[in-house]
Amino acid sequence: MRTHHFFGAGPSQVPLPVIERIREHLLEYESSGRSILEIGHRNPLFLKMLEQAESGILDLLELSRDTHRALFFAGGARQQFQLIPINFLCAGAPAEYLMTDYWSEQAASAAEAFGAIRRITCDITREQPGSPFADSAGPVSYRHITSNGTVNGYQLILPVVSPGCPLIADMSSDLLTRRLPDIRPDVMYAGAQKNLGCAGLSVVIGHQDALGHAASRVPFHWNYAILCDRRVPDATPPVLSIAVAAEMIRWTREEGGVGEMERRSRLKAQGVYSVIDAHADVYRTTVAIQNRSRQNVVWHMRDAATEASFIEAAVREGLTGIRGHASAGGVRVSLYNGVSMAEADDIARFMDMYASHLR
Ligand code: PMP
Repeated sequence: MRTHHFFGAGPSQVPLPVIERIREHLLEYESSGRSILEIGHRNPLFLKMLEQAESGILDLLELSRDTHRALFFAGGARQQFQLIPINFLCAGAPAEYLMTDYWSEQAASAAEAFGAIRRITCDITREQPGSPFADSAGPVSYRHITSNGTVNGYQLILPVVSPGCPLIADMSSDLLTRRLPDIRPDVMYAGAQKNLGCAGLSVVIGHQDALGHAASRVPFHWNYAILCDRRVPDATPPVLSIAVAAEMIRWTREEGGVGEMERRSRLKAQGVYSVIDAHADVYRTTVAIQNRSRQNVVWHMRDAATEASFIEAAVREGLTGIRGHASAGGVRVSLYNGVSMAEADDIARFMDMYASHLR
């Protein structure tokens, strides 16, 4: 059984009801007499599960099943860093990448191998005055945003407009935690190991017209347009990871859907940020207040030694997974959907106590 709260940035804490259902599936999947591990991808039980996962996630995002697809891929979000330019980047029309986090840079440099891209800078310490992309001089293949910065704790809140070309969003760390209208991407993708279950899977979601643009030279298994036309996977997909995603989708719906997840996210984050603001001399954040991530709360303390002893003290209280990303250091508390309000309250209370003792 779970002995501590886990605030890891991904893989993240999975709700216990989901884990319990997966445990049942491991022993026997849907009265089939077989474990989920033994279910093949042409088995009608799997096809039903895949269909439910796809329609379930589209329903949660309030996207029409008639016009949109959710495609599941073996492999994480970094794989999509390459598949996006392979599918969307056209000669003579660079792609624009909004640079808001470590992951934006990773996405941009992966795309660079396939053609011209432009990096659009963004000062995360200041409130954004409006949609971040300016009018571009020539044609643009697509515009790319990282809707939530898992490393630095910056979340894009404003509506983003992308006239003349699709807006593509890496939503790895905030898919299913917020309603879409505020950023309105045409295509979004995410690794599964934060709000969609476990590692080994990514999902690409978009309007069929937007996904249908891949050139025919794009290899079959990576070609969004071809995959959009198919309902039965050709190659063996990661059945177990898809089963976990299907259960996460079901759990999200049972808990009240994305609107409810957003409401909880706001409250959880508010609790933690209010302690940060009350002890601004102890917990230092640089992200503009309006763009503080509700998923990854990131801060620095006086020095590395203080951060290390904070993290050790938290672990002693059963509050784990809070070391900052290797590239950024500091402390990071992730408040994904699988983290309850009570758990968020526990870490906020601990932070408050710790800061008061430091004084
Ligand atoms: N994008 C974002 C926003 C992420 O947070 C991560 C992983 N933390 C990635 C991409 C890379 O994901 P993966 O490890 O699934 O390739």
